[in-house]
Amino acid sequence: MTKATEEVIGDCDFGRVVDGKLLAQPVWRLLTMSPQAAEGVASVLGVEPQRRLATSREQLEVVSEESSLRVLIKDPDRLTAQMKLWDSRGLAHHCDGSLFLSPEADAGHPCGCPPTMAERRARARRGQGPQPVTTLLFLLAGCPDVGSFRFRSSSWRFAETVEEIRTQLAAVGDPALCDLAIRTVEFTTQNGRCVSYHKPDLKVLGPWASRTAIDLAA
Ligand SMILES: [Zn+2]
Repeated sequence: MTKATEEVIGDCDFGRVVDGKLLAQPVWRLLTMSPQAAEGVASVLGVEPQRRLATSREQLEVVSEESSLRVLIKDPDRLTAQMKLWDSRGLAHHCDGSLFLSPEADAGHPCGCPPTMAERRARARRGQGPQPVTTLLFLLAGCPDVGSFRFRSSSWRFAETVEEIRTQLAAVGDPALCDLAIRTVEFTTQNGRCVSYHKPDLKVLGPWASRTAIDLAA
C-alpha cells in the first residue's frame, strides 16, 4: 500500500441533495475537494461529478446510483466506535462505551456508561448519555489509489455491529474487500403509521488480494 492511499481525500454519507436539502435516500454520496479523486470515483461508479457548496467550501460530489459500494478496509483500526455527548459547554462525555477517550486527564478511566447498547441507548434518549459516532476509513475497491474516504455514522444499529466487524477484519488479516450498503428498514408503528429509515450495513467479504484475482479471472 503506497502512502498516497493513506490520505483521507473526502467524506462519504448517504442521501441525495434536492433543492439544497439532503433527502434520505439509499444512494451513497462521496464528497471531495480533489478534482482528480472525484473524476476517478465518478468513472468507477459510471456517473458525473457535481459541484456543491458544502459548509462554505466548494466540494465535488459524486452520487452513486447504487445502495452498495465495494470498499477496501486496510485493517480493523479503520473502523472505530466512539460515544459523544455534547452540551452547551461543548463535549461533555467522550468515551468508547466503557473508558473515557478525552479529556486527557480522564482518558483510560472508566466512564460509567452501562455495559449494553440497549441501556446506553435508553440513557441517550433521556439526554443523559452519549450517542455513537462510528467512523470508517475506506478505499473504493475500483480506485483504491485516489485515497481514503471517511464515513461517519450516528446509527445505533451500525454501532452495535462494530465489534463483530472488527473481529472479522482481524480474522482476514490482510486488507479486506467489503460491501458497504444502505439498508431500508420499514415498520408499522403501534398507531398504524408506516415508518421507514435507512441504516448503514457493512459486510466483510474476504481478503482483498484473492478477491481481486477472482474478479480478474471472472
Ligand atoms: Zn461513556
